[in-house]
Amino acid sequence: MKLPFAESWKIKMIEPIRKSTREEREQWLKEAHYNVFQLKSEQVYIDLLTDSGTGAMSDRQWSQLMLGDESYAGATSFYKFEAMVQKIFGMPHVIPTHQGRAAENVLFSVLVKEGDVIPGNAHFDTTKGHIESRKAAAIDVTIDEAKNTQLELPFKGNVSLEKLEKVILENPGKVPFMVLTVTNNTVGGQPVSMQNIKETCALCHKHNIPVVMDSARFAENAYFIKTREEGYADKTIKEIALEMYAQADAMTMSAKKDAIVNMGGFIATRNKEWYEAAKLFCIPFEGYVTYGGLNGRDLNAIAQGLDENTEFDMLATRIHQVAYLASKLDEYNIPYQRPAGGHAIFVDADKILDSIPKEEFPAQTLTCELYLEAGIRACEIGYVLADRDPITRENRFGGLDLVRLCIPRRVYTDNHMDVIAAALKNVFDRRKEITRGVAIEWEAPLMRHFTVKLKRLG
Ligand SMILES: *Cc1c(COP(=O)(O)O)cnc(C)c1O
Repeated sequence: MKLPFAESWKIKMIEPIRKSTREEREQWLKEAHYNVFQLKSEQVYIDLLTDSGTGAMSDRQWSQLMLGDESYAGATSFYKFEAMVQKIFGMPHVIPTHQGRAAENVLFSVLVKEGDVIPGNAHFDTTKGHIESRKAAAIDVTIDEAKNTQLELPFKGNVSLEKLEKVILENPGKVPFMVLTVTNNTVGGQPVSMQNIKETCALCHKHNIPVVMDSARFAENAYFIKTREEGYADKTIKEIALEMYAQADAMTMSAKKDAIVNMGGFIATRNKEWYEAAKLFCIPFEGYVTYGGLNGRDLNAIAQGLDENTEFDMLATRIHQVAYLASKLDEYNIPYQRPAGGHAIFVDADKILDSIPKEEFPAQTLTCELYLEAGIRACEIGYVLADRDPITRENRFGGLDLVRLCIPRRVYTDNHMDVIAAALKNVFDRRKEITRGVAIEWEAPLMRHFTVKLKRLG
């Protein structure tokens, strides 16, 4: 008999979690104004809000904390971290920052000016924020197929080369760089193929445009290249990562994702001029260039995390768990963005709660129902998150209305996946009875989803 797949690690330390009653959850959700960001974590049984900074560090990482060098300048921890980033990505110049958006803030302070146009395969919201706050435009050049949730493509996060070239040709002299995000978080943690990475870099370089890789989930992307793209099955994840970055000019990284630490980030680049200029912004924003807002011990933990999470077995364990949850949803006929992504499942709420009008926010309603059902905290990636059009102030109903189930790394077991799938099935089975959604009572002018106050209709 073929032995079944199992995790490539065992558990040494546990953290108790608490179940609650439906009555308690009804009360708590009401007090949170039907916005799960306003819940206390103790009111949550299984927390799928994000995979960012929520992973479990390994015993090696915890032991690295003890070896942290907290010297203000030139700490051994910095050099250990710098050497690991150079080894994994092949980029010589490295600046630590306190998280991914801080890396964007420092680098974009050098690169982005008013009136610029920055194409990318679905910019992450903070990336977009750092572009738009500098009065520049972020233009999505992801392939159209990514919007069809039911279409199965191995590399649904790819860049459309036609769209990219169009943006470049229509904006001469205004495109300071292109952002290539791996995996493409916004369309469901979907990977970008090695071929597409190479063609995108070649096209940009033909027009003298540098490429900055937004790298939060680079290791998961490398795993998909190894397992799905021809010619990579026998390469190691580390070889694939080096090849992915061989043509890129710079990268920003949120270490809270694929470096499996609770806080941290960095910039790396081949461009000496960008490096020198970025250092000058790092010092006032983040701190001196050998710590960048982080403790020495954090830098050690990032170095260790990068090393171990670019090993195949670690990634196989992770991606298997996400795929396992997807297989349960398949069993129950629950629609989600196909195929399963690297870090999350994006449930297609519009297709489930189809009697609820857009104006009553189906995905937000499904997020509430899932919490009420079993204390599971998911995240709406839909019409609430989409905010209003900055000019017309109308709600933006043009995109997808999804509920994201984000799986923290090395935290939950497959039994938890079974609970999540069963809870969703229970909501799915009574979907015809859920005919009314939620209405906004109060909202902030920007990034409203964090603080929005809603009421339940009907
Ligand atoms: C999380 C993320 C960021 C921002 O990183 P933080 O560490 O949360 O500041 C940027 N880009 C992508 C693709 C991300 O997933």
